[in-house]
Amino acid sequence: MTAAAPIVAARDLVKSFGAHRVLHEVSFSVAPSQVVVVIGPSGSGKSTLLRCCNALEVPEDGTLTVCGTDLVRNGTLIPERELNALRMQVGMVFQSFNLFPHLTVLDNVSVGPRSLRRMPRAEAEALARDLLGKVGLAQKAEAYPATLSGGQKQRVAIARALAMQPRVMLFDEPTSALDPELVGEVLQVMKGLAREGMTMIVVTHEMGFAREVADVVMVMDGGRIIEEGPPEQIFGAPRNPRTRSFLQAVI
Ligand code: ADP
Ligand code: MG
Repeated sequence: MTAAAPIVAARDLVKSFGAHRVLHEVSFSVAPSQVVVVIGPSGSGKSTLLRCCNALEVPEDGTLTVCGTDLVRNGTLIPERELNALRMQVGMVFQSFNLFPHLTVLDNVSVGPRSLRRMPRAEAEALARDLLGKVGLAQKAEAYPATLSGGQKQRVAIARALAMQPRVMLFDEPTSALDPELVGEVLQVMKGLAREGMTMIVVTHEMGFAREVADVVMVMDGGRIIEEGPPEQIFGAPRNPRTRSFLQAVI
């Protein structure tokens, strides 16, 4: 039996901003239903790595295959039409929620499937209500984002990403902008997704979440993955001294 094809496979990815090399030959892969948590100091390249996975950044060297599509061919990005098809399969949730302020919660969640997947309104709204139920916000369908708490906004943002029926979800510090008492409700939704088998790459400083939910923890420092392994290893017996000093600083 052969292992299932990875959802994301990166090999020797290089990315610079001007003369500043931010990713140094980074290689990793994410299998279907795997939850990979990325940790590491600020500026270590975590966001850049994640942004490469849906082509918000273009790696200048290496190969990157996402959902079976090679994102970069001969150093150039695949054509726009293929890129759009690929982006629909990759959901992304940012630290800032980026909801449309002039749309209701229901419209925020249903607009993607309607406009990008050409789903009929009734079907898109039924899907959106279903997803709002899943993130615990069924009763907020008609509300506007400004009336929601940060935790509620982030749960809407997750529902909106899920509405595109992605094959992988990328989270970039989804709870970092939240008041501490609102972090748990967002992590709870993410745990539910993981349990259902969603493939996820999560950049976070929530080490409790990483311990509990991650299949693999990747530690980044200076644009490199300096260590990766199951959470028991990373948190219990880190091999790299820089992993140890990072963990001492954050735990
Ligand atoms: P992290 O998410 O781990 O904090 P980032 O991937 O955001 O790290 O950033 C890695 C490095 O790349 C940092 O030194 C940052 O200043 C730099 N960087 C990120 N985005 C840009 C950009 N658009 N232009 C120039 N430098 C950038
Ligand atoms: Mg970042």
